[in-house]
Amino acid sequence: MIGPEVERLIQLLAKLPGLGPRSARRAVLALLKRRESLLEPLARALDEAARAVTTCSVCGNLDTREPCAICADPRRDGGLVCVVEDVADLWALERGAAWRGRYHVLGGTLSALDGIGPEDINLGSLVRRAESGQVREVILATNATVDGQTTAHYISDRLAPSGVTLTRLAHGVPVGGELDYLDDGTLAQALKARRPL
Ligand SMILES: [Zn+2]
Repeated sequence: MIGPEVERLIQLLAKLPGLGPRSARRAVLALLKRRESLLEPLARALDEAARAVTTCSVCGNLDTREPCAICADPRRDGGLVCVVEDVADLWALERGAAWRGRYHVLGGTLSALDGIGPEDINLGSLVRRAESGQVREVILATNATVDGQTTAHYISDRLAPSGVTLTRLAHGVPVGGELDYLDDGTLAQALKARRPL
């Protein structure tokens, strides 16, 4: 019915979050029908992004610059570092424009169940940042899940000797709720009313 190139495109798109095989087929059909105005520009944009995107060596964010635009922005307070699990959480906080400090992206959480230990997440560079003397406060904004909480406690133990102030997002972040699903006002409020650990 369709050639292997199209079949492969459907299979790849179906791996994206929120897209199953059915929506992937619909998306591919839409692309094929709009070859010049959609398919070709998308192919070029994907190619350019694949070449340019890199992981920031300072904070773990994804960007086309190294260090990333946030780490390189002199208007941001480098003394404040907000620790998040994933780039999606960073994007959520940036949407609300409530945070004027910098970030550290862990790229996951500790998980005994999944066998994910401290060496498997972006933690070593956070410890080095905290010990550099340039950071005053580290805000632990991991999710309110069991793994997120465990990770926050582990990090606070690891960073305690550095002497930085450690805080946690205030109530308002629902238990088990991921940052990305919160509305901007709730996030801004949770950041403003952060409390010491
Ligand atoms: Zn960065």
